[in-house]
Amino acid sequence: MVDLGQKFDVLVIGGGNAALCAAISARRSGASVLVLEGAPKFYRGGNTRHTRNMRCAHDAATDILTGPYTEQEFWDDLLRLTGGQTDEELAKHMIRESKDILGWVVEQGVRWQPSLGGTLSLGRTNSFFLGGGRAMLNALYLTAEQIGVEIAYDAEVTDLKIQDGMFLSATLKRPIGGATEIRASALVAAAGGFEANIEWLKQYWGDAADNFLIRGTPYNRGSILKLLLDKGVQEVGDPTQCHAVAIDARAPKFDGGIITRHDSVVFGIVVNKHAERFYDEGEDIWPKRYAIWGRLVAAQPDQIAYIIFDSSVLTSFMPTLFPPIAAGSIAELAGKFELDAAALEKTVADFNAAVRPGTFDHTILDDCRTEGLTPPKTHWARRIETPPYYAYPVRPGITFTYLGTRVNREARMLMKDGKPSANMFAAGEIMAGNVLGKGYAAGIGMTIGSVFGRIAGREAAQNARN
Ligand SMILES: Cc1cc2nc3c(=O)[nH]c(=O)nc-3n(C[C@H](O)[C@H](O)[C@H](O)COP(=O)(O)OP(=O)(O)OC[C@H]3O[C@@H](n4cnc5c(N)ncnc54)[C@H](O)[C@@H]3O)c2cc1C
Repeated sequence: MVDLGQKFDVLVIGGGNAALCAAISARRSGASVLVLEGAPKFYRGGNTRHTRNMRCAHDAATDILTGPYTEQEFWDDLLRLTGGQTDEELAKHMIRESKDILGWVVEQGVRWQPSLGGTLSLGRTNSFFLGGGRAMLNALYLTAEQIGVEIAYDAEVTDLKIQDGMFLSATLKRPIGGATEIRASALVAAAGGFEANIEWLKQYWGDAADNFLIRGTPYNRGSILKLLLDKGVQEVGDPTQCHAVAIDARAPKFDGGIITRHDSVVFGIVVNKHAERFYDEGEDIWPKRYAIWGRLVAAQPDQIAYIIFDSSVLTSFMPTLFPPIAAGSIAELAGKFELDAAALEKTVADFNAAVRPGTFDHTILDDCRTEGLTPPKTHWARRIETPPYYAYPVRPGITFTYLGTRVNREARMLMKDGKPSANMFAAGEIMAGNVLGKGYAAGIGMTIGSVFGRIAGREAAQNARN
């Protein structure tokens, strides 16, 4: 390891996709670069370890993408899913740059594969990492090392010296090679959101946050985000907004990853602890709705819900780590979760009675729907009547938070007085709120990290030279 007492051109805090893209980009622009990853080496890479794909605009089908996804279509999707809560200039800039990122990432050693079937129907819009997020990260780390980026693990940053919008130095929790104070001419903050900080989540969600499960790394506690906001950086985004999906209630508190997510909602009904349905399970196709179910479950009593279905659909969705709980009757199923048996029987009976005949097709908005039921199930409604019956208990699984640091097109942070910081840049989850005011479409997290990471690294390197 090099002498950390020297002054680097660019310091990158974080060790996920955004950090590595920034580090590689800064190094390729001629800067000396140090990456400080708070996690131990085995756990390096934050939430990026769990990812599978990235959404980029492209004008034609490719080896791995089944058709075009134009800038306009990407923008239309983003506008709709955020309800207009996005910075139009930045978002359009990101979408334009995303066209180039697919190739740039390959130049950094990452490989793609065609989309898998049976889950989110992303074959046209999203490129999948060959080997998943970990393989993608390993390629980025290898490239970073080969071109001379210095990387320190177990290197949690606990303080930042910032004067009048200018970064001076970062303080390590424990010394590395005798150094605790790390100096650099420019900073790239890529240290994720605050999703793993339950106390911080509680400020907005109250005690309900105790029942949240965190799908990714326990190391994203938002400490860098908080330091930056406390030291004059302008914040962006609503602190209650986040990406949250329904995951198995038996999942671990942290790092359960993709195999704990349930994609079976559209094939059944979802009830709360009072055995009552609370939302239209067939509102829209699953890729456009999976990311609302975490918040929906968070709003239910004790933040618990149950996906109920029967044996006719058991093999229709990707299996998860946890098997469904089976029973020969609805009453018996209720007993396995301490749900009121009569209440669950009535909910299922009312649902079955309201189902109208139709032709089932879960890939389109089909005509299988309920009539006279509140809430309705507007598509894919079929009777639950073929034993054995099954249920998955689900809780809110928080993926990442949207509160962040405001940046401009150069990924340069803006201070509370509106002035650009002299030498501080941000990329990834820590600034996702600029683009995502609310809502989500699969693969945008990695687009934000890659595009703004690449920009931040380049700009930080240039900043350090001047
Ligand atoms: C289960 C799961 C599946 C997902 N799947 C996808 C997907 O397929 N496609 C997609 O686009 N998005 C996906 N996401 C979201 C995606 O993971 C994030 O948007 C993306 O990885 C963010 O990259 P990042 O570099 O900003 O943050 P991260 O990859 O989380 O990296 C943050 C880094 O900062 C480090 N850090 C934190 N605090 C400190 C500190 N004080 N000092 C030093 N280091 C610190 C952490 O250790 C970590 O290495 C998924 C998320 C999860 C949890």
